[in-house]
Amino acid sequence: MSLYGALEAGGTKFVVSVGDDPLQPRDVRRFSTSNNPVETMAEVVAYFQERGPLKGVGVATFGPIDFATGAITNTPKLAWQNFPLRDALRRALNVPVGFDTDVNGAALGEARCGAGKGMENLVYITVGTGIGGGALVSGQLVHGLMHPEMGHLLVRRAAGERADFAGVCPFHGDCLEGLASGPAMNERWGVPAHELPPEHDGWKVEADYLAQACVNLACVVSPQVIVLGGGVMSQRHLFPSVRTRAEELCKGYLPLPAIVPPGLEYPGLSGAFVLAMEAAA
Ligand code: ADP
Ligand code: ZN
Repeated sequence: MSLYGALEAGGTKFVVSVGDDPLQPRDVRRFSTSNNPVETMAEVVAYFQERGPLKGVGVATFGPIDFATGAITNTPKLAWQNFPLRDALRRALNVPVGFDTDVNGAALGEARCGAGKGMENLVYITVGTGIGGGALVSGQLVHGLMHPEMGHLLVRRAAGERADFAGVCPFHGDCLEGLASGPAMNERWGVPAHELPPEHDGWKVEADYLAQACVNLACVVSPQVIVLGGGVMSQRHLFPSVRTRAEELCKGYLPLPAIVPPGLEYPGLSGAFVLAMEAAA
């Protein structure tokens, strides 16, 4: 039996697992993202060594990341800035390491074994504390000058938006993340998103921004499916509203992809397994 390792690296916690099936992460453990990358990585390496030998490891991490150095670049967690995460694992474990953003990983997982199983063109967007998106085009994850940063798409003000709301993105104010992330909803309406009742007009505003993102991405990437995940999307009533608003915005010009919830319980972690398997293949 071939065993793989998966690491989903987030700004607050690192989740590790081993297994031979992306749909069945085994022995899941969590480490806090400490201010000491050397210590955190020693814990991660020890976890994998105790359960090895592994055929490969996959890392789906918060970003932005630099594929040349295998490091997270621009994080406010200063100790992690430019820490060579990928190579630290490669050196310690001596196995192939697949390395990508959390959302590119999730896109890959959803395309290989989730809501877009068998599809070669898929976009995955998480709507949570931040907004991020990854894309698979012709079966390959999109890497370019860096990688997609869909959370910072520029959108126009939704009908029903508060005129005085400047948005919460620390870089841009009113980009998609600044207007439609969980913290943006909280800031605008004065209550956490999960406490906003489904009939509140705030959800129409939210659906408008997400629909704009879906239409823009459909125009650029032409995915067969757009998967919307993350904490805010656990409000399932958003899905029909986003689809309806996207159709309105599109005005029948192009067929829109399916806009669906994740098929995977843990898109990032399962995606990390697929990254591991494809790195080792
Ligand atoms: P993170 O983005 O930090 O990895 P999540 O995807 O869980 O984690 O996103 C957290 C954000 O999602 C918070 O802003 C929170 O208000 C929002 N959120 C979490 N659960 C819900 C829910 N059931 N309904 C609406 N918003 C939610
Ligand atoms: Zn932004």
